[in-house]
Amino acid sequence: MYKKEVITYSPEETLELGVKLGSLLRPGNVITLEGELGAGKTTLTKGIAKGIGVDDNIKSPTFTIVKEYKGKYPFYHMDVYRLEDSDEDIGFLEYFHGDGITVVEWASFITDYLPDETLDIQIDYGEDESRVIKFTANSDYYKEIVDELTS
Ligand code: ADP
Ligand code: MG
Repeated sequence: MYKKEVITYSPEETLELGVKLGSLLRPGNVITLEGELGAGKTTLTKGIAKGIGVDDNIKSPTFTIVKEYKGKYPFYHMDVYRLEDSDEDIGFLEYFHGDGITVVEWASFITDYLPDETLDIQIDYGEDESRVIKFTANSDYYKEIVDELTS
């Protein structure tokens, strides 16, 4: 496991970090997001989408579980919070192994379905408007992305 931490001090900074991350991602990549309500998961996701070239306004897909967008590559935004007490499979395999890039908010609720290689991001509240954004890469591929992102 390879870990790195970034602190942002405003929603805009989190968005910008997301844009940079999105521009480094490629089809088939899967990003997991954890953190309390209001931590900034969706804010980071909006940036990632922008970095992939998605023009649409990203909204949290809480009631639909997954929303699909078109950018340079297909972009899948999942919020699996609703699956906490369920083992429903919405066809995860096809999303994770397809031509798109996937971001999963509350990924710990679907660990059984996640691919082996993911870039895991945990966001925690810091003082005032700061957020501690922790990256964990479980493959060399994602380690390089984290290094590039934080360099
Ligand atoms: P989540 O998806 O984790 O529930 P959201 O991204 O929807 O969180 O909301 C984060 C909230 O926190 C927004 O209202 C945002 O403006 C605010 N905020 C304050 N500081 C930050 C920061 N540094 N990064 C991200 N969001 C921040
Ligand atoms: Mg959210």
